Amino acid sequence: MSYIVFDLEWNQCPYGKEKEVASIPFEIIEIGAVKLDQDLKILDTFHRLIKPTVYKKMHFRTKEIIRMDMEELESGLPFHQAMEDFLIWGGEEVEYCTWGALDLTELQRNMKYYHLLDMIKGPIPYYDIQKIFGIEFEKKKTSRSLEWAVDYLKIEKNNGFHHALDDAYYTALVMQKLDRDILEAYYSIDCYQNPKTKKEEIEVVFPDYSKYISREFNSKEEAMKDRKVLNTKCYVCRKNLKRRVKWFSVNTKNHFSLSYCPKHGFLKGKIRMKRTDEGKYYVVKTLKLVGEEEAMRIQAKQEMLRLKRQLKRQKGKI
Ligand SMILES: [Zn+2]
Repeated sequence: MSYIVFDLEWNQCPYGKEKEVASIPFEIIEIGAVKLDQDLKILDTFHRLIKPTVYKKMHFRTKEIIRMDMEELESGLPFHQAMEDFLIWGGEEVEYCTWGALDLTELQRNMKYYHLLDMIKGPIPYYDIQKIFGIEFEKKKTSRSLEWAVDYLKIEKNNGFHHALDDAYYTALVMQKLDRDILEAYYSIDCYQNPKTKKEEIEVVFPDYSKYISREFNSKEEAMKDRKVLNTKCYVCRKNLKRRVKWFSVNTKNHFSLSYCPKHGFLKGKIRMKRTDEGKYYVVKTLKLVGEEEAMRIQAKQEMLRLKRQLKRQKGKI
């Protein structure tokens, strides 16, 4: 088994969002990666430039960030070739690591565009080093920049940032400084290839929360009627808990609930509604044991929303 820390650079439509190709809003132009063994020792590096076929002019932001121009990319490989090289170089048993949660998704979106998605099986467990850095050093899920983390950990800066291989390399150096137990406990799951059937649904228990990723539904409403989606089970004792505050939505994407386990206390529920590229829906539900203060906050939030709606209705009547 080896760890593959990778980073992508991508370009987007230079003529604005209206003119973009919807199935590939971000066209990958560079892949950089570092291979680590099980002791996190660096074994090898990988780098490919990719010749664009969708957006042939650089978006001004891309140009600013990566300081590269189109002529340089002319020497790049076709995407399918770079991808093949990348997967072969990685080897059979790999665990992917990235800075943030975007790269694996965009990689697969590009693969899908070129009909290569069957080369990689999803959902994909991976390590989001940005998230784990936050959990270990800031005791919460922050989203610091890679350079911020590098400075914080006093890692020597020999190269610039925002080149795929440099960023992959720095991410690997940050990863080496993480506590191994924390790293392994807090893996992420990329669901670009989301579960389709009941059998493919995902349920995992992390040290201080549990996560459930549902199968697909035709609509948000259908999802929010499903018993399994709504279920709030204590992830410590596995007891089905009654909800003290029923699922309520803050907006159409996020729903919250509050349950109580006689043994383990308050359980906060959060459902995030996810839309697939094909217009279907699935949910990511997290359940977390919380203190009384957080429990009160959820209760208050729900009460305020109810009051707001009530006032709105009354206003409508007058
Ligand atoms: Zn319990």
